[in-house]
Amino acid sequence: MPFVIRVRKEFQSAHFLTYYKGKPEPLHGHTWELEVFIKADTLDKGGIGFDFLEIQEFLDEITPDYVCLNDIFDFSPSAENLAKWFYEKIKERYPTVQKVVVWETKYGGAEYYE
Ligand SMILES: [Zn+2]
Repeated sequence: MPFVIRVRKEFQSAHFLTYYKGKPEPLHGHTWELEVFIKADTLDKGGIGFDFLEIQEFLDEITPDYVCLNDIFDFSPSAENLAKWFYEKIKERYPTVQKVVVWETKYGGAEYYE
């Protein structure tokens, strides 16, 4: 029976959207929340599917913290596009990733899965 390992991470980054309601949106920052869901079909002898800390270390490596997202991505850094980008990065390390959720605020976010 599979388990789903869930790990969350917050990061601080700025962005703006070029085509927000037909006009440019001003630069602004968020405390984003990233949540990943990784399926574990088996557990080790200690009852662990994936080590939360190892996942968090990997997320620390790939997360664009304290940057302007528009400066480092060649796509519009919406919550939707970020969720897809994180999903694809995480899948390289954790092929059983099921879903990635990116919360832009506590009230709005996007998830990506295949
Ligand atoms: Zn925003």
